[in-house]
Amino acid sequence: MKKLVLASNNQGKLREFQALLLPLGWDVIPQAELGVTEAEEPHATFIENALAKARHAALQSGLPALADDSGICLAALEGAPGVHSARFAGEPKSDARNNALMLEKLASVADRRARYVCVLVFMRSAQDPQPLIAEGEWHGEIINTPRGDGGFGYDPYFWLPQFGMTAAELPAADKNAVSHRGLACASLIERLRVI
Ligand code: IMP
Repeated sequence: MKKLVLASNNQGKLREFQALLLPLGWDVIPQAELGVTEAEEPHATFIENALAKARHAALQSGLPALADDSGICLAALEGAPGVHSARFAGEPKSDARNNALMLEKLASVADRRARYVCVLVFMRSAQDPQPLIAEGEWHGEIINTPRGDGGFGYDPYFWLPQFGMTAAELPAADKNAVSHRGLACASLIERLRVI
């Protein structure tokens, strides 16, 4: 088995990536298990933060590294909250307060278009001059009343016209097949097959 370090300690992401990459012969190890510290994420773009996290984990572990960065971008707010999605309403992290702030900012706004974005970066080593980069986008509209209790984050307000439901009402398997994270993963896996 080839080993790679996952630049995250999120159990949900770990399980997802382990399941996806095991068939390709990759043993996915969370960074904390290897003593890798949390990287700074100071940048304004998803790709810069994902690159910083992957490079940091590869440097500290000496292994190939996989990092992801994701969030929601609102058309009417020039893409905000973007990289600040997890802490849109400040510390401590709270989905409820983030969603309340989003609705407040969209209160008198007609343009409700939103997109989820996920960027994945795979670096063969900390010096890798050509990291593999995969992106996924998922488009929807923000509604004022929450629906559904699946998913997390902004999902109860993320309306999908083609499904007639929110992301929180969509069964998990369906979400993974069409979501920003699912699409980015599928694209990365194609590229990992040939390295
Ligand atoms: P992270 O990549 O785990 O740091 O996620 C960033 C933040 O973006 C999360 O805390 C959520 O607020 C938001 N987010 C990213 N992906 C999703 C999703 O699939 N559903 C709901 N919220 C999401």
